[in-house]
Amino acid sequence: MHGYSHVYVTEDAGIFPLNRFSEFAGLDVKAQEDKIVRVKEKLESKGIKSNIFMAPGHSFDDITIDVLRRHHFEYITDGFSKKPYCRSGITFIPIVPNIREAERKVLSAGIITLVVHTDTTNEALLERYKIICEMHKESLASYEEIMSLAVSEYDAEYEKWKLKNHHRMTRLYRMAKKIFGRKKAQYKIRRAQREGVFLL
Ligand SMILES: [Zn+2]
Repeated sequence: MHGYSHVYVTEDAGIFPLNRFSEFAGLDVKAQEDKIVRVKEKLESKGIKSNIFMAPGHSFDDITIDVLRRHHFEYITDGFSKKPYCRSGITFIPIVPNIREAERKVLSAGIITLVVHTDTTNEALLERYKIICEMHKESLASYEEIMSLAVSEYDAEYEKWKLKNHHRMTRLYRMAKKIFGRKKAQYKIRRAQREGVFLL
């Protein structure tokens, strides 16, 4: 379940500060619960039952987690980690923050998920997803397989380090994209991630 409207109504980054906008983080319990219950009921009326949540914009807070737990959600796909981990009584399945990172030939070891917005996907994006699936076909896994793995402890320090690195790379990528265009900027970022230096 990927939120209710996917409309960002706050500028709160929440407890996984990837973006400074949110559909949930910063809202009170009632507002968050209304959305979660409404979308859960809507999905169930269509015969879709899920106990996995992913917040639009990756932004959620402790209230979101609490409401989700009370409504029998057991998993959130979000956070940076090598393995599924437990935080505030819910299991997190880690992510890659964007398609560019998933396009790297060598991904960091461990479990990662990538969201595909079926409503906004176009031919060009589908082609990129296909290449990613082809490139990593030996290591694709179903949610059932991932859910059967042992859950580790939440590593706040690791996540903080990954977030810092992600924000740094995003700033560099935006700058490089303006100067060189998307393709060349992607190449430079991949190289920077591999070699630890950004070459202009
Ligand atoms: Zn989304």
